Amino acid sequence: MSQSLQEKDIHYQLHPYTNARLHQEQGPLIIERGEGVYVYDDQGKDYIEGMSGLWSAALGFSNQRLIRAAQQQLETLPFYHLFSHKAHRPSIELAEKLIQMAPVPMSKVFFTNSGSEANDTVVKLVWFRNHALGKPEKNKFIARTNAYHGITVASASLTGLPANHRGFGLPLPGFLHVGCPHHYRYALPGESEEQFADRLAAELEQTILAEGPETIAAFIGEPLMGAGGVIVPPRTYWAKVQQVCRKYDILVIADEVICGFGRTGQMFGSQTFGIQPDIMVVSKQLSSSYQPIAAVLINDAVYQPIEAQSGSLGTLGHGFTASGHPVAAAVSLENLKIIEEDNLVAHAAAMGERMHAALRRFTDHPLVGEVRGCGLIAAVELVGDKDSKAPYQTTGTLGRYLAGRAQQHGLITRAMGDAIAFCPPLIIDEQEMDLLLERFERALDDTA
Ligand code: PLP
Repeated sequence: MSQSLQEKDIHYQLHPYTNARLHQEQGPLIIERGEGVYVYDDQGKDYIEGMSGLWSAALGFSNQRLIRAAQQQLETLPFYHLFSHKAHRPSIELAEKLIQMAPVPMSKVFFTNSGSEANDTVVKLVWFRNHALGKPEKNKFIARTNAYHGITVASASLTGLPANHRGFGLPLPGFLHVGCPHHYRYALPGESEEQFADRLAAELEQTILAEGPETIAAFIGEPLMGAGGVIVPPRTYWAKVQQVCRKYDILVIADEVICGFGRTGQMFGSQTFGIQPDIMVVSKQLSSSYQPIAAVLINDAVYQPIEAQSGSLGTLGHGFTASGHPVAAAVSLENLKIIEEDNLVAHAAAMGERMHAALRRFTDHPLVGEVRGCGLIAAVELVGDKDSKAPYQTTGTLGRYLAGRAQQHGLITRAMGDAIAFCPPLIIDEQEMDLLLERFERALDDTA
C-alpha cells in the first residue's frame, strides 16, 4: 500500500524546530498553496498566515511580480557566484539599493543565504577587522537573554534562548549575555521604564568592565526582539546602550532580520528605536522569503581595516557558493521596489494601529498578562495568575493550546512560551485584519 504524504513526512524528514517524538505522533500540517495573506492545506482548508510564514512573507504568498522577477532571472543567468572578482548585475544593484536605503551611512554589503549565516559572517568580519587593527584580543560579543540571532554555531552562541544552547554545548566561550529589556517581566517592583533602562545600561557597563573593555568587540541586538517574545524595549534603552558601547569602543550591531523593511512601521527598526549601527543584518522581508537571502551592511569603520588588511593577508577567506545568488537578488530588488511603490511601510503602520487597538481590548481577559508590540508586530502573553505573572501549569502549556485552537479556527500564529505572536504580511487589508482578530478571539474563547 502506498504511503500518504503525511506518512512519508514522518518517515523521511527530520524537521527543524520540531519535537521529533511528538512529530511521529501528530504528523505535519501540509501547506499546499498560498494566495495573498492566506495559505491552504492539502484538504483545501484556508488559514490566515498571521506570522507571514516565519516573520518574512511581507508581500504574502502569491505576488506575481516576484514570480516574474525570479523567472526572468532564471532565464538570463540562473546562477553565478561572487568569488575571485566575479560579479553580476542583480547583486551589484541590490548592494547599491541597500546602501541607499540604509538609515545611517554604510560602506559595503556582504551577501549570505540566511540570517544565521549573516550573523556568523558578522562575527568573522569583526574578528578579522580587529585582527587587522592589531587587537585580536578584542574578540568577545555581548548579546541579550532571549535574543534570537540564528542557529549556526556562532549565531546560536549570540542567541540567548535555552533551546538553542541545550544539548549543543553552546554558547561558545566569549559570547556573553546581558539582561533582556522586557519591562513587564524583568523590572523590579515599582521600577519605571526609564529606571529599568538605566539599570540595564549599568549592567552592560559592569559586564564590560568585569571582562575588560579591551576584550569586547561588539554588542548585538534586535531593535525589538522577535522570536524571544516580541519584546519592545523601553523608549530610552537603545540610546543608553549605545552610549556605553561608544565609551568603550564597542561596535553596535542591529540585527534587522525581522524588523527590516517596514515591520516596525518605519523602514528599519533602527529608525524606530534611534539606533546608529556600525553593522546591520537584513534578511526575511528583503525577498519576502520567496528566495533565501540575507545581507550584512558594514560602515567604513568596519570596512577600512578589512581593506587595509588585504594588503598583507590577501584574500578575505569567507563566502558562500550562493552569496548574492542572482535569482534571490533579482527577487529582492523587485520586492523592495514594490514595498516602496505601494507605500507598504505606511500601510503596515496603519494596519498595526488597527491590530494594537483590537488586541488591547483583550487586556482585561483573565488569561492575558500583557499585550505588546510596535508597527505590524505584536504579542499577547498569557498567564495563569495576573498578579504574580506566573504561568498556567508549566510555561508553554497555554501558548501551545491557544496556537492549536487558532490553527483549528484558520489562523496561523506562533507560541513563544506563553506569548502568542502576530506578524502578518505587510499587504494585509482591513477586512483580513479584522478576520484575523476574530479568529484569534474565537481561539481565546475556547481557552478561557
Ligand atoms: N536574526 C533574527 C533577528 C531572526 O529572527 C532570525 C530568524 O528568525 C535569524 C537571525 C536567523 O535567520 P535564519 O533563520 O534565516 O537563519
